[in-house]
Amino acid sequence: ENQTQLLEEQRNALVQSRKSLEEQAKALERESRYKSEFVANMSHELRTPLNALLIMSRLLAENRGRTLTAEQVRWAQTIESSGQDLLTLINDILDLSKIEAGKLDLLRTEVDPQTVARKLLRGFEVQARSKGLQLTAEVAPGVGVIHTDGNRLEQVLRNFLSNAIKFTDQGRVSLQITSAPEGIAFAVQDTGIGIAESEHEAVFDAFRQADGTISRRYGGTGLGLSISRELADLLGGSISLSSQPGKGSTFTLTIPRDLPQSAETRRPAVAQ
Ligand code: ADP
Repeated sequence: ENQTQLLEEQRNALVQSRKSLEEQAKALERESRYKSEFVANMSHELRTPLNALLIMSRLLAENRGRTLTAEQVRWAQTIESSGQDLLTLINDILDLSKIEAGKLDLLRTEVDPQTVARKLLRGFEVQARSKGLQLTAEVAPGVGVIHTDGNRLEQVLRNFLSNAIKFTDQGRVSLQITSAPEGIAFAVQDTGIGIAESEHEAVFDAFRQADGTISRRYGGTGLGLSISRELADLLGGSISLSSQPGKGSTFTLTIPRDLPQSAETRRPAVAQ
């Protein structure tokens, strides 16, 4: 009799503490969403004045009236390139916070891998050539069109390619598009500095670079791969990495051929 009562009391206490834990979790989720929304709004507000600054410094650097000295033109160019770096950082933070707030909308369209490959090759041609790197793209026969968010797909591949070029001093960078059991695979391979096995997970963390520091030795924000991983997830796929220090790296994005309709408009991040 007594024992039953004791058990009942314990049960009630457990139910009570579970309820309060659930409430705490909800409050935390709400807070985290507010924070993401705040960052998203702030990033947006930062971009407007920054764009004005970029336009003006570009005009100055053009020096149309020939009124500036060579040194002053270099100053204007520095303002512009630093501003550009800042804009990249802000855009990256905006993307991350949108993803965290569950506000990144996907748009599902028909995407032709051939077109994607051509567009990316064109986009990185100059950068690769200026480092003396060979840049190629290959689409396996019969890959066919897919249905996904083409812009977000390209964003991930641009990140892979710009990293591959950045971290490769000689040799080649290639994009290979093939069919995979899970759908379609986009592999970006380079002959660059490679990544130590122990860093394979860490490179996907925000603000991390592979030497374990947050120093910007190679430039960049350290956000590219964490955004890419989130985007891969949203697209219903994943990213794998195989790399050997000193030999090179291959980053592979694998996504389904058809983005589920349900993924198109993002689910709300947390229950109200
Ligand atoms: P960022 O390139 O802006 O530093 P990322 O998130 O894109 O940020 O990459 C994180 C880190 O992963 C890089 O700083 C670099 O150390 C490592 N990394 C990424 N891609 C490569 C690559 N192709 N070869 C060697 N290291 C790479």
